[in-house]
Amino acid sequence: MNAAPIFRGGCKLTLLRGLIILFVVALNMSAECEETHEYVPGASARVRHPATTLKAEDLDRAQRNIIAHAWAKEYAKNAMTTAASAAAGVTPEWLRQMGPETTPGDTLFTPCPACRDQGKPVHPHGLWQWSPDKPDQLQCKSCGTIFPNERYPESIVLTAKWGGEQKFTFYGGPTFVIFSLREGRPSFTGNMRAYKVNYVQSRLSNLTLGYALSKEESLAAAARLILLRFADTYPRWLVHSGYGDYADMDPKIAAAQINNLPEPELVYPPNQPDRKLHTGYWSAGRARGVGMEQGFVVTCVEAYDLMYDATFEGKPLFSDQDRLKIERDLLFEGASMLWPDPNLNNKSVGGRMACLLVGLCLGNPELVRFGWSGFEHTVNDWFLDDGATSESPGYASMTLSGVWPIAEAMKGYSDPPGYLPKGGPRIHNLNPYHDTCYPLVWRAMYNTLQGDLKYPPIEDSYSSSSLSALSIELMAANYDDPRYLALLKEVAGADLSGGSLSKAIFLRDPELAKRPSSSIHFEDVTFPELRWGVFRTGAHGRDGFLCLNADEFRGHHHYDSLDLYYWRDNQELLSDLGYLWDHPDKRYLYRTAAHNLVVIDGKEQAGRGQRGGQFHLFSPVLPFKVMEASSRAYPDASVYRRTVMQIDHGDKHSYVLDVFRVLGGEQRDYLFHGPNNEYRVGGMGLAPWAGDAASIGYAALKNVRTATGSAPWKISWELPDQRSFTAWSPGGVGEQVFIGEGWGQRDWKNSDRGATLPYVMRRLTGDEPSVFISVFEGSKSGEECVRSVRSLKVAGDLATLPVAVEVQQDGLVDVFFSAVGASPALVETSAGRLAVKGLAAHVTLRDGQAVTGSLIGGTSLKIGRLELTLPVAVYRGAVTGQRASEHDGYYEIAGNLPPVPEGAHQTLFVDDGKQRRAFPILSMEAKNGRATLRVKSATEGFDPLPGKSWEIIPRIDKRAIR
Ligand SMILES: [Zn+2]
Ligand SMILES: [Zn+2]
Repeated sequence: MNAAPIFRGGCKLTLLRGLIILFVVALNMSAECEETHEYVPGASARVRHPATTLKAEDLDRAQRNIIAHAWAKEYAKNAMTTAASAAAGVTPEWLRQMGPETTPGDTLFTPCPACRDQGKPVHPHGLWQWSPDKPDQLQCKSCGTIFPNERYPESIVLTAKWGGEQKFTFYGGPTFVIFSLREGRPSFTGNMRAYKVNYVQSRLSNLTLGYALSKEESLAAAARLILLRFADTYPRWLVHSGYGDYADMDPKIAAAQINNLPEPELVYPPNQPDRKLHTGYWSAGRARGVGMEQGFVVTCVEAYDLMYDATFEGKPLFSDQDRLKIERDLLFEGASMLWPDPNLNNKSVGGRMACLLVGLCLGNPELVRFGWSGFEHTVNDWFLDDGATSESPGYASMTLSGVWPIAEAMKGYSDPPGYLPKGGPRIHNLNPYHDTCYPLVWRAMYNTLQGDLKYPPIEDSYSSSSLSALSIELMAANYDDPRYLALLKEVAGADLSGGSLSKAIFLRDPELAKRPSSSIHFEDVTFPELRWGVFRTGAHGRDGFLCLNADEFRGHHHYDSLDLYYWRDNQELLSDLGYLWDHPDKRYLYRTAAHNLVVIDGKEQAGRGQRGGQFHLFSPVLPFKVMEASSRAYPDASVYRRTVMQIDHGDKHSYVLDVFRVLGGEQRDYLFHGPNNEYRVGGMGLAPWAGDAASIGYAALKNVRTATGSAPWKISWELPDQRSFTAWSPGGVGEQVFIGEGWGQRDWKNSDRGATLPYVMRRLTGDEPSVFISVFEGSKSGEECVRSVRSLKVAGDLATLPVAVEVQQDGLVDVFFSAVGASPALVETSAGRLAVKGLAAHVTLRDGQAVTGSLIGGTSLKIGRLELTLPVAVYRGAVTGQRASEHDGYYEIAGNLPPVPEGAHQTLFVDDGKQRRAFPILSMEAKNGRATLRVKSATEGFDPLPGKSWEIIPRIDKRAIR
């Protein structure tokens, strides 16, 4: 190991390896508002082209793949056919029609007035069909109405003067609320201009790909015409937002001062100009108006870079005059829309990527650095220190789609000879896949996958969110991790004939399929920063995914602190509704009541920076796994804490015991929603509810039925593929149960408009602490193992909120115990008295005898002949140091050390005085009252983060007493 000592989180630092020294990234983002760049004519001639996304090696690899593999031959053939047809269509007349002189609007932000008249749901973006065969027509996919339409005339006209007159027209009827814009007006003509530009851009991509695979001159000649047409029109395209406000001034000035324009912008009535474009950079652009100019710029720069040295009929394709026009008026001009944006978000990262590519192509190292700093900020700051997403899995995929081209383009990058950067050393032979925290990001993308290789739809993610084939291609090509290759083989086939072929043909080693791969395997995991605890089931961890979410509230998060999500055998059991994108009803998915948790007094949970969240326990040892977390999601509640245990008797028999403790407020509703409406209730008689509607109004439920829930009851769902899901309650004194129909729509395109799900609500009121106990089992129908669930009486220190539960199965009984502090407790079980002092315990009974047991965070457990003891309930001490490198990470600790080896599946909790974080202990070495705990290896774990004190909560397990 060649680890440089690092005394704070490795992810906040750039790791120094070999000769590579990276410049220091200014964390003060506002400094970059001043960012400006100069175009230097002729500098591109000193660059070895192609220099952006594809390099000469990639083109060569594609040829080798074409020779070696049928899939590559086929792919190249199709790409060439598409490119040839694109080239045939490029004529001056077509370019005049499809490459508009007038600034394009945007394909979004166009609500349909006909849908509104027909009483259909109106999405602020509309849902449009446009075809290159009828480029001056737009059809609503929802109601079928064709625009332009004399019933909905664009009677409002704005006239711009800068650089020559341009007219923008808008629908003159009643306005729409378009997201944050109260008085919005669609422009169907502006929308169609954007569709046209998109289409020409897509044809340019086709030509670029065809040329990369063939160097066919006629394709380059057609691409040149498109580039020149864009270089003609682009300088006059005004900076505008998709909402329809246009900055009638020099676009470079408008881009630089988007929130403080030197002159009033053009807006349609009744809005008044305020010298800002609505939502600033977030929705601004020139080729479109959605804050993502990069798509256009990247397509253009990739084409130009790749064809830089192309010839046509024996002469260079581009004249000096062409070069000046394309470089200055299109590429550099496009970058000038992007570099003033000081923000770092999922859109602006892509903007930086575009700037970087322009910088690489035009030989401008300052622009390269601006783009590269976006990569560093993203990987170090947008992603959490543990490599996981700061927003949601869906947004992580989106963010990576903005930065991966930076990593690819920067592989092997060195600053031009003689270049002396202003703020730091030169960059030499960079490898972003290893010299940054990028490896941890990909590791987290892997470790948050479900067994079906999709992400849980937690926060703003869809139930279809997954790791793209392209991402997997990048992982397999750039890391020598056999699990990543196994992932690729699963999506691309064992012979690697599928996958993301457009990337694979250039990136994939023709011999890759022969390299050894392992199987895909997922471990139980908790993340120190993401604060999810995940228990898996199945031999390779692919059958089940149980997630307790104690994450802090961040961007694109939901009011979901301590939500429990449970997926098993390809079914969502305790589901999360996911994301409705920009749908006007999206609050029904992010509200507290959309989640499986406790709602206090019908209120929303606390939001950003307020709810905290930390794990107290994470102990994943078969057959009994337990995790526990708490948060301040309700600031007035002194206890908001969830303990989740998973028992796994093998042979697919596993279930979950959930204990939710709450103290605070008047009314506490334990809430979960089932997977569908095919359910039966047993053990209680529900009657229509005629009570005070206001008390459940927050959940917006219909057809509510109710029953007292003091005795044991269950609710069972039938699922596809002969599977079932059952939720049990052992009954709670004073509990009132409500079941009603609540929000179930999950598709922003409204294909499931009106869908409902049953919401199950268990209510306790009063001043006493509430403890809700549930058992959840997913199984093959008819093979359910749980027969009954009952609460057991516990005598002891009631301040620790102790609970004990018996779960009866065929031939065996599981007894569970849980408390928030270890003090002596006595439990009356069906096999006699259990005496226990600990935080969590489990005992299996057969024939009235305790046969196996586990004790966690305690010193003693005794029932019948089963006796477990531990010398210490919790080990604690001081953190004395930490260090990390790409392949290793260690904590150095002192204090009351646990015996060695205590490593397997143990969790190290590290507290910095503000936040308690959980790390897996991979191995431990102890000497003279000090120990080194390894928390990161080449394939597992995380960089250590700063901490003052540590805790290890030991466990003891005893199998098969006879
Ligand atoms: Zn419509
Ligand atoms: Zn959610």
